[in-house]
Amino acid sequence: MNAITTDVLVIGAGPSGCVAASYLHQRGFEVRVVEKSRFPRFVIGESLLPRCMDHFEEAGFMEALRNCGFEIKRGARFIKGAKVCEFDFSKKHTKGWDWTWQVPRADFDQVLANELQRKGIDILFEHEVTDVDFDDNGNSTTRVRDNEGHSLTITAQYIVDSSGYGRVLPRMLGLDKPSSLPEHASVFTHVEDKRRPEGREGTLITFDVIDTKTWLWVIPFSNGMTSIGYVGPVEFITSFPGTPGEKLSAMLKLSDYYYERFKDIDFCFEPVIIKNYSKSVKQLYGKGYVLTGNSAEFLDPVFSSGVTFATESALLAAKLISRQLDGEVVDWESEYSEYIRAGVDVFATYVKEWYTGNLQALFFHHRENKEVKKQICAVLAGYVWDKTNPFVTKHNRLIRTVAQYIKQEK
Ligand code: FAD
Repeated sequence: MNAITTDVLVIGAGPSGCVAASYLHQRGFEVRVVEKSRFPRFVIGESLLPRCMDHFEEAGFMEALRNCGFEIKRGARFIKGAKVCEFDFSKKHTKGWDWTWQVPRADFDQVLANELQRKGIDILFEHEVTDVDFDDNGNSTTRVRDNEGHSLTITAQYIVDSSGYGRVLPRMLGLDKPSSLPEHASVFTHVEDKRRPEGREGTLITFDVIDTKTWLWVIPFSNGMTSIGYVGPVEFITSFPGTPGEKLSAMLKLSDYYYERFKDIDFCFEPVIIKNYSKSVKQLYGKGYVLTGNSAEFLDPVFSSGVTFATESALLAAKLISRQLDGEVVDWESEYSEYIRAGVDVFATYVKEWYTGNLQALFFHHRENKEVKKQICAVLAGYVWDKTNPFVTKHNRLIRTVAQYIKQEK
C-alpha cells in the first residue's frame, strides 16, 4: 500500500474543495485533493449567487472563470400566473457583487479543478475515501481506493471534508442530523433550447411557481442548453406515472408560461430524480477536521444558496486552518460554527417562509416597497451576514409580519 503525507487533505473537488485547496496552497501549505469521480462529471447546482464571486476572487479563480463565457446572471425572476417579481442584484441593500454566472456545473467545476492543477495542486481523481482514523491530536490517516482497487493511505494534520452529497465524515463519525425543512424532491434535466427567445428573455433565470409548494426552474446556459427542473413535495413528484422523463414531460404542462417553449422537447439525458436532499449535521468541526459545503449542510434549491455556502464555508475553514497550522489558537465554535450557522439560519427562514406562502405573498404583492425589495434582494444575492439589513437581523419575524400586514390589507 502506498502512503503520502500532507499538511491538509481535501475530500472532494467540487467548488467547496477547490476553494479551500486553492486558498491553503496560496498560503504555502501542502494540500492533496482526493476526488471520487473522473471530471467532467455532472452535478446539479447551476444558478450561483453574487456573494460567491468574493470567494472565487480571494481563492484566485476569477481570471480563469472570466475567460469561459458563462452566461451572466444579474438577478432572478419569480413568476406566479400573471404576476412577476424580478430582483436586480444592482439594486440591493448590501454593497458587493451585483452579478454572477449561471453555469453547467460539469464545465464550471472542470475549470476550477484545471486551475488547481495548473497552480501545482495534486488532485487524485477516481480515488474514493473509504476510511479515516484520527489520533488524540487530530492527526488523521485516511484510506483511499482508486477505481482499480489499489489502496493508498494519506496522513494529514487537517482534513477538509468537501465531499458534498458523499458526506464522508458525517457518515463515518455519525454526525448526521435530520434537517428542519420539509422533505422535498426534484426532477431535472438539460434540454437543447431550440425555441429559446432572442434577447434578455432567453437568458433569464426564472422560478415559475405552480403552487405554494411546487415550482419549475429554468436556467439558460451560454452554450444553448437550458436546465429545467421541478421541485415539490415528494408525493407530488412521485404522483406522476412512468419514467422520470414521462413525469417531467407531464409536469411541464402545468407551466402556462413555459409549456410552449419546452413542449415535446428532447431531454439531453434521462431526467434525474433526487429525494429528501435537505441535510444537516450535529457539529461542523472536530479535532483535525472541518466540514464544508454540502457535506455540512444543504437546505433547498429555491434560493440557489448551495454553491455560495459551499464556497463561503470553504474559504473561512481554509483561513482558520491556515492560522491554526501557523500556531495561532482558533476558536472554531465562534469563528466557524456560529458564523456559518447564522447564515444558514437566515436562508433556512427564507426557505421555510417560501413554502408557507408568506414570502410569496411578499414577492407577488401588487404594491412594491423599494426599500424592502432592496433588503430582500441582498439576501437573495447571498449577503446574509450584513447586520445593517433588517431582513437579515430580524429574519425570524420580519417576513411573517409583512406577510400578515399584506393579508390584512386584502
Ligand atoms: P459537490 O459539488 O457535490 O462536490 C463534492 C465532490 O466530492 C464530488 O465531486 C464527489 O464526487 C466528491 N466525493 C464524494 N464522496 C467522495 C469520497 N468518498 N471520496 C472522494 N471524493 C468524494 N446550489 C446552487 O448554488 N444553485 C442551484 O441552483 C442549486 N440547485 C440545486 C438543485 C437541486 C435539486 C439540489 C438537490 C441542489 C441544488 N444546489 C444548488 C445545491 C448544490 O448542488 C450544492 O450545494 C453544491 O454542489 C455543493 O458543492 P460542494 O462542493 O459542497 O459539493
